[in-house]
Amino acid sequence: MDILSHYHMYDYRARCAVAVTTEIVREIQRRHQLDPLTTIAVGRAVSCTALLASTLKAGREYVHTIFAGEDGALSKVIAECNGDGHCRGYTVPPRLVEVLNEGDIVPESVGEALGGAGILTVTRGLSMDHGGPYNAMCALQNGEIAADIARYLTDSEQIPSAVAAGVKLAPDGSVLAAGGVLVQKLGGAVLDEAELAAIEERMQKSLGLSDRLAAGQSADEIVAFLQGQSGGFGLLMTRPLKFQCTCSRDKMMLALTALGEDQLKDILQETGKLAVRCQYCAEEQDFKLSEVIKH
Ligand SMILES: [Zn+2]
Repeated sequence: MDILSHYHMYDYRARCAVAVTTEIVREIQRRHQLDPLTTIAVGRAVSCTALLASTLKAGREYVHTIFAGEDGALSKVIAECNGDGHCRGYTVPPRLVEVLNEGDIVPESVGEALGGAGILTVTRGLSMDHGGPYNAMCALQNGEIAADIARYLTDSEQIPSAVAAGVKLAPDGSVLAAGGVLVQKLGGAVLDEAELAAIEERMQKSLGLSDRLAAGQSADEIVAFLQGQSGGFGLLMTRPLKFQCTCSRDKMMLALTALGEDQLKDILQETGKLAVRCQYCAEEQDFKLSEVIKH
């Protein structure tokens, strides 16, 4: 089962969230028939977005992220998670082979696939009790997703943060493990720069998050490793995470109604059907012209 675990570290001077997203990433890969690199991209993005959403309390609040590359084979990686732990995501295109021409260099990392430069947009869909919705944009750090999120949190939200995310694939491309981890200073707390730097170094050099998850390590073991000592941390709460789309037949109907009768008739004539496909879950629903018009 996928789960988000929330800890305090260094005796309440930092917080740590660990997201295990293996089942979600498997489901997204299956629905969109992703290739290995787009699976890794969306898996990291969903894991990081679940971490950003880890402090949401209400189910209708959500965090939405778009990693837009400037001129790579991978145009966009999109993920969304809400306060109930429901997550979804996709990539454009779903498979890089569809946009690579003969002779093109095949990208070996997510950053290369995004083209090495681009923009991260984070939307926090908060209720008015929590300040209302807002958008923030920043340049991608390197397009490897976790580093981009760390830069966003440190620069835009002004919270020094360390972030890691990983997806481990079997040789056949199936998902063995996926997840992410976030460590942040707690508000007003005195966390030594050196302590956060030590965590960052362990994350980058020796954590190997997806290997640890694939080997069955618990979130407790991961937090203990990051802290570098056994005491001084504790579990605050857990929340199940799962793949769940928020699309509905009613919302699709509204989108169709907005097109107007003439355009709907044109579409029907050209394609023989009135179908709407959800970008997030890849499910398609068919409509009759009569039900859309009277709606
Ligand atoms: Zn959907």
